[in-house]
Amino acid sequence: MSHDPSRTHAVIDLDEDYPEIREGVQRICADYPGAYWRALDEKEAYPSEFVQAMTDAGYLSALIPEQYGGTGLPLRAAGVILEEVHASGGNASATHAQMYTMGTVLRHGSEAQKRRYLPEIAAGRLRLQAFGVTEPTTGTDTTKLRTRAMRDGDTYVINGQKIWTSRALYSDLMLLLARTTPLEEVRRKTEGLSVFLVDMRTAVGNGMTIRPIKAMINHNTTEVFFDNLRIPADSLIGEEGRGFRYILDGMNAERILVSHESLGDAKWFVRTASKYAGERVVFDRPIGMNQGIQFPIARAYAQTQAAELMLRKAAALFESGRPCGEEANLSKLLSAEAAWEAAEACMQTHGGFAYAREYDIERKWREARVQRTAPISTNLILAYIAEHVLGLPRSY
Ligand SMILES: Cc1cc2nc3c(=O)[nH]c(=O)nc-3n(C[C@H](O)[C@H](O)[C@H](O)COP(=O)(O)OP(=O)(O)OC[C@H]3O[C@@H](n4cnc5c(N)ncnc54)[C@H](O)[C@@H]3O)c2cc1C
Repeated sequence: MSHDPSRTHAVIDLDEDYPEIREGVQRICADYPGAYWRALDEKEAYPSEFVQAMTDAGYLSALIPEQYGGTGLPLRAAGVILEEVHASGGNASATHAQMYTMGTVLRHGSEAQKRRYLPEIAAGRLRLQAFGVTEPTTGTDTTKLRTRAMRDGDTYVINGQKIWTSRALYSDLMLLLARTTPLEEVRRKTEGLSVFLVDMRTAVGNGMTIRPIKAMINHNTTEVFFDNLRIPADSLIGEEGRGFRYILDGMNAERILVSHESLGDAKWFVRTASKYAGERVVFDRPIGMNQGIQFPIARAYAQTQAAELMLRKAAALFESGRPCGEEANLSKLLSAEAAWEAAEACMQTHGGFAYAREYDIERKWREARVQRTAPISTNLILAYIAEHVLGLPRSY
């Protein structure tokens, strides 16, 4: 077989584990223990101090290239940052959107937009944490979304509604997907959608209204209403009508990053369950002597290890510029399921104490569950694998 020098090799280096990043993130997380997250959970508050500490340490600019003021790290290093937050018992949802929504600006924004926004985001002076895609009536069927952006001179006028727009109350900028050409007028339903970078500091009160949603987890999530919101035409990212493609371009990175969060959760649950199983004595022996307690934890550990290997493969392919849709989706599926199995094992191991808030297990259990629904639900990943990997007919 001849060697093609232009082909980049994807290498999974098992020793590349970013120990210095892990230690650095662990040091920050040590200042934000379970009690901190529990208090926020009860008040449905935002972890502003934690976000500031992560920003100051440069972790949230991991994926912004150095020329725009970031640290320019590989995707896997960014994933490790999120993973360590979750493995420490915390939650990175307040910070993670910046990592993946920023990628759309980086890949498809103009040089002027990149120079204007990326250094400010890297320095933490501008927060890009809101991502407005999901709508109440269209759900996963994104191309049917109804929010309209109509060009009017040197502005766009936006009308419509988003739902589950997380962190909108704590963000300065929103990456918004809206329809610029009606569905009936496009050849393919994926056309006619556009991406905008909306400055929320001027939008709120001038056509944009944000209402918090009371949710099962503290995710600072909201409904956002657009009523004749007028934004400058240069808020458009890339070309008008190509926005759906731009959002899809960022999906593999997003899948890989959020898989790391599940992996961190799975590690926290396995560690917490194993410790308790070794210490808790019932019937004069540690409960961990019972196979009924051991086996679910051991199984969750095996699933966690398998998910981590797939995640390493996805990141290696991504980094070498090779297609990684299959691996990114498999990582998302396997890591969310590993976290859920580990969460269940940890709940069961702790018996009634799992329900006591001070153990953090019920909080982490609620938080881990979301990854089976958002940002993409398990069914849609299975549908992707069936269609794009196994060649089965499209089911929707
Ligand atoms: C805590 C939280 C935070 C979120 N943050 C954001 C955010 O910041 N920005 C944003 O834009 N969105 C956000 N979301 C929305 C999230 O991405 C969606 O909830 C998710 O993609 C599922 O969409 P849906 O809720 O409309 O479900 P629906 O599309 O209504 O689907 C309902 C169920 O039916 C299944 N289903 C639908 N169609 C098919 C099919 N063809 N085959 C098999 N099964 C199918 C789905 O898998 C799902 O289980 C968030 C959601 C939550 C819960």
